[in-house]
Amino acid sequence: MFSYAIGVDLGGTNLRIAAVDEGGKLLSKIVLGTNVKLGRERVIDDLCSAIEAMTGEMRGKFQGIARLCGIGVGVPGLIDIESGRLVESPNLPGWSDYDVKGEIEERLGTAVILENDANLAALGEQWVGAGRNAESMCMYTLGTGVGGGLILEGKLWRGWNGMAGELGHCNVVPDGHPCNCGSHGCLEQYASATAMVRMAREAIASGAATELRSLAGNSEQEFNSRVVYECAMKGDMVAKSVFERVGQALGLAIGNMVNAMNLPEFVIGGGASSAWDAFAPALFDELRRCSYIYADTTAKDGTGIAGRKRTTVVVRALLGGDGGLYGAARLPILRHAEKGK
Ligand SMILES: [Zn+2]
Repeated sequence: MFSYAIGVDLGGTNLRIAAVDEGGKLLSKIVLGTNVKLGRERVIDDLCSAIEAMTGEMRGKFQGIARLCGIGVGVPGLIDIESGRLVESPNLPGWSDYDVKGEIEERLGTAVILENDANLAALGEQWVGAGRNAESMCMYTLGTGVGGGLILEGKLWRGWNGMAGELGHCNVVPDGHPCNCGSHGCLEQYASATAMVRMAREAIASGAATELRSLAGNSEQEFNSRVVYECAMKGDMVAKSVFERVGQALGLAIGNMVNAMNLPEFVIGGGASSAWDAFAPALFDELRRCSYIYADTTAKDGTGIAGRKRTTVVVRALLGGDGGLYGAARLPILRHAEKGK
């Protein structure tokens, strides 16, 4: 007999559902579109039907030998952990103050665990991804915004009321670009995919000579962070300077975290982290400059300083878009294990 969990990653674009066993092995996965335009009730209906289809599939495949130990659901946005309400979600318009947990539980007739998607991505990476050898780690997810998650000694750090890990809103530029959160100069305004495009457009508007100018006339879908990245890798100085800014902002944010927490590992994931080659050099320069703890625990080539085993590691995520799915499945497995003690 083995246990498995269902993990759900409810994003603004995709709805992904997976069955994962207690050892972290993926048993089944489906990806559906999120019909945000059809309303939240419809999205929750789709989500619940997909969960039921997957538990049915598992019953058929592993009759008598597998047991479902729980369901974890990741959503983008701020969650009130006690009530299970989604307080606010920029990627799910119209979902503010919505009882996501209650709605799912009512339809399925069973308990689910709700958690912020970036927290779950961190938990997934720590379980079977880039952080699998680290007990504690911090993750930055670079997407439309910048999410974050903190795993301390194997456990997700939720904070006082479940809103910890909002690392995208740490300040990297005093009085900088206005942020959706109401503040100015947040990391999200310098290291998200959205910010990469904005900074490219700002450079074009300032009259800089760049290849980007001819590309920027394309539609919003076509002029994206990938295009800016490809331009930078071809040697365009203006595109390169955009990623220097990204790296500098990330280095500053991570350096502050290294100084505060002295964690062994920092993982950078999310779609826009695929621009790693363009922003990493500036990131490590800034990190070394602003964190003497980082500089003192890492050699120039990224390895540990001779004689000192405790190295601070900053790496790319390994699980791609699946990190949040693994994390969503990990939560009920952890809770189940705790109950069994
Ligand atoms: Zn902010």
